Amino acid sequence: MSSMASTVMQSPILKSPHLRLTHRPPLVRHVTSPTHANGGLMPSVKHVASSHSGDGQMLRARHVAAALHTDDRMTVAYPAPELAKEIRKPRPFWVREWTLNDVVRIVFFTAIHLMCLLAPFQFTWPAFYTFVALYFVTGLFGITLGYHRCLTHRSFDLPKWLEYTCAYFGVLAGQGNPIDWVSTHRYHHQFADLENDPHSPNEGFWFSHMKWAFDRTYLTAKCGEPDNVSDLTKQPFYRFIESTYYIHVFGQIAVLYAIGGLPFVIWGAAMRYVWVTHITLCVGSVCHIWGNRVWNTSCNSKNNWWVGILAFGEGWQNNHHAFEWSARQGLEWWQIDMTYGVIRVLQALGLATDVKLPTEQQKKRMALENSLNLS
Ligand SMILES: [Zn+2]
Ligand SMILES: [Zn+2]
Repeated sequence: MSSMASTVMQSPILKSPHLRLTHRPPLVRHVTSPTHANGGLMPSVKHVASSHSGDGQMLRARHVAAALHTDDRMTVAYPAPELAKEIRKPRPFWVREWTLNDVVRIVFFTAIHLMCLLAPFQFTWPAFYTFVALYFVTGLFGITLGYHRCLTHRSFDLPKWLEYTCAYFGVLAGQGNPIDWVSTHRYHHQFADLENDPHSPNEGFWFSHMKWAFDRTYLTAKCGEPDNVSDLTKQPFYRFIESTYYIHVFGQIAVLYAIGGLPFVIWGAAMRYVWVTHITLCVGSVCHIWGNRVWNTSCNSKNNWWVGILAFGEGWQNNHHAFEWSARQGLEWWQIDMTYGVIRVLQALGLATDVKLPTEQQKKRMALENSLNLS
């Protein structure tokens, strides 16, 4: 049993005699709405589990349909509705269940924010250049290109050495190990803005921005065990990174100190971590509240220009939820998407292959404009 599963099973809430892990998940009620119905599409569970391509809305509808229909993973991992309700009740932070993972995360998160108070007193130009360089290395190559578009959505292929290098840059961003990050993000797409979304603003802005990251019990209750990442867990590299994650995160701080002393630690590690992390978190919070919608997705995703720029193209969230398998997220010429620019360069060098893009037909089918004309 994974550590997350054992944590959940030890939870006093989950020890409730009312717990029936084979009960249907609470998302069932959503499927009856016309927005989520998929015309009776009921593919085999195997097909759903392995599919990371195709029309975004259809893919999500397939997940939901399969969850309803017959899926051991969904029915076993989910809590009974009464348990989910109990967990969802707003309660003070000192009453809720804290796993060791939650405590480590929040102590790390708080400490590194406090370190930023020293930034004005530790400013040097070399330290600032390190901040900028690592913003690109960990934010773009690590998170947006590596963790997100390559590992989560498989929107293009890289040679293994380059995939692992990008994944390692993602580790240095300090946002979690690849298995954990990818699993949570796949659940976000599967349940976007439904009750089981790991971080929907429907539960409040601050919940979607960061509180969700410190409540593993709640996340597991909503999504079950992270069993949607077998493509990563079967690779020894990702299992090794998962078991040694904090060594790499803290190791980089030691290396920065050895190279440039305290200014490098404050600017190259603390300031850069806070900058990159909050930009990433804005994609899940801001981009599901503020911006424009052009695609008929069943979630509240929006295209937000300033997150689009700061997050290297990830702020075009409505585009992304419409075509989640697309390597390109800024679909208009004016929608700046630096990550896609890098993917194009890698493609020209023969390093990125099978780069997926939406066809004109797929765009027509998903356009909000067309769906309004039809109704
Ligand atoms: Zn989203
Ligand atoms: Zn995504």
